[in-house]
Amino acid sequence: MRLLPGIGAVASMLALAVPSPAAAGSARVAALQTALEARGLYAGYVDGVRGPLTRSAVVKFQRRHGLGVDGIAGPQTRRALGWRGRPRLGSRAMARGDRGWDVAALQYLLQRAGHGPGMADGRFGPLTGAAVLRAQRAAGGGVDGIAGPVTIASLRGGGGVGYAPGAPTGPVAFLRPVSGLIGDGFGASRAGGRSHQGLDFPVPYGTRVGAAGYGTTIFAGYNYGGYGNLVMIQHRLGYTTWYAHLASIASWVGERVNGGTRIGYVGSTGYSTGPHLHFEVRRYNVPIDPISRLLTTVAARAKGLRRLDARQRLECAGRPLAARADPRGRSWIARERLC
Ligand SMILES: [Zn+2]
Repeated sequence: MRLLPGIGAVASMLALAVPSPAAAGSARVAALQTALEARGLYAGYVDGVRGPLTRSAVVKFQRRHGLGVDGIAGPQTRRALGWRGRPRLGSRAMARGDRGWDVAALQYLLQRAGHGPGMADGRFGPLTGAAVLRAQRAAGGGVDGIAGPVTIASLRGGGGVGYAPGAPTGPVAFLRPVSGLIGDGFGASRAGGRSHQGLDFPVPYGTRVGAAGYGTTIFAGYNYGGYGNLVMIQHRLGYTTWYAHLASIASWVGERVNGGTRIGYVGSTGYSTGPHLHFEVRRYNVPIDPISRLLTTVAARAKGLRRLDARQRLECAGRPLAARADPRGRSWIARERLC
């Protein structure tokens, strides 16, 4: 494990606190959470972990449909979920245009393995297709974009960027996306009893934002849940980094980025009270406090702060928006209002 001097001790302690892959949840529960989320009954994370939120959502669903109320998603409950309750994972090869329980389970497995797609809606669209291709390339077998038994087994068995049973789940450290002091930290209270799930860098409008590490951009576009212009980067070991409220975006879905690659410029889009960068780190899609994983090195290559000049504005404005994905409320992130 390569680490810069000084953070090794902190990072190895942190590694103990990170949930093990085994505790990261099951695809079956994730598919259930996705179906319940679509019904407006589940407001938690699609994390594959059967907790109180999942159980109470099942109970509500069962009451609503006059089913036996036991909080367990048995055959009857799954039938009542319609297309979102079937077919079971592995019963068919999934391809573009498919939808169902198995697609939601697949999306969870892909996400857990570090390939994206950054959303779980039970529909096999372009983002899911791109994630399947990434998973197949990483597995080193056939690359056809169709999620059949081999792909599923590989994902289940740990064929991911950073998910392999018994493999070291080493500590990960991130560069600072911008220079400057940190304002609100992780856990700061927010309106409506929410707590802040990232770090805020109160830096001027137009400050260049650099990727916090090597990875692939899995979302670049507007998020209606409060993040505004948002870039999400998938890193190894199930980590994603999020850069929110951007004035403009300079990356695209599928772009391979290194630490420091310019991905956008600081702004105040979405639910934001003024220019700042909201930087969030998630593991298996659960926000974590990134502070101890943050290196002192700044990812932005430009020295100091830099405002958008006319050429950069043009460059950012010129990128075709149609090429960027848009979750339109159907993603894991869409409901949150964090800043
Ligand atoms: Zn924030």
